Amino acid sequence: MTSEHTLAVRDLTVHYGAVPAVTGVSMEVKGGSIVSLIGANGAGKSTLIKAITGLVKVRSGEVTLGGKPLTNRAPNVILDHGIALVPEGRRLFGGMTVRENLEMGAYRIRDAARQAELLDTCLRYFPDLKAKLASDASSLSGGQQQMVAVARALMSAPSVLLLDEPTIGLAPAFVNVISAVVRDVNRQGVTVLLVEQNAEVALRVSHHAYVLESGRVVKHGPSDVFLHDPDIKKAYLGL
Ligand code: ATP
Repeated sequence: MTSEHTLAVRDLTVHYGAVPAVTGVSMEVKGGSIVSLIGANGAGKSTLIKAITGLVKVRSGEVTLGGKPLTNRAPNVILDHGIALVPEGRRLFGGMTVRENLEMGAYRIRDAARQAELLDTCLRYFPDLKAKLASDASSLSGGQQQMVAVARALMSAPSVLLLDEPTIGLAPAFVNVISAVVRDVNRQGVTVLLVEQNAEVALRVSHHAYVLESGRVVKHGPSDVFLHDPDIKKAYLGL
């Protein structure tokens, strides 16, 4: 994957009313890489992802994809540029089947054969969902719902995938499934930005990591180095 899929934010500031949630954040997710964003509750991770995807307004600074400005564009425009979001809390369409949820993810893809191909690919990533296609999405376990949320985003054939806390509250087996799929999807060429409170998972999956504290980047570097960094271990890995 090339620099046309490099996602960058430069000097980004987001406020909720008068209160700053993200202050002067600069970050680069190189095309073809997995970058994770770690930090405590309330550090501003979700706000940053929402700012990238047009869900909250950027006060200053910019968001670019392949150097092209995307700051404060509407969420559907961001998706049109190939950036798909797996939102915090999954936000599946309740009262709809798993298949319908997945089809909603592919709503921009008109070609039925291409849609079928994408569905096949998603079911290869998550074979457990095959038997659940006709089930109401809200009847699934938390882990299965998270699989649907990831698969729904993949149904848009994104070039950049953003995931907001995809493993929160999941049993270890599901954490492993989601982590493996994120790696696989990346190997297929998709650029990934992973927001995680579980720093260990994030650092094991990603190539590069940013640490956010009180809305600011306090540190960034290669994830494998961070796994052995005494400060990171103490603050984020519970060691
Ligand atoms: P979490 O892991 O809890 O989701 P986070 O790192 O994603 O934390 P954010 O949710 O981005 O952090 O929150 C950053 C700051 O903005 C926090 O102080 C939070 O209280 C505040 N905040 C978040 N959403 C809103 C909102 N809709 N209105 C006002 N303040 C908000």
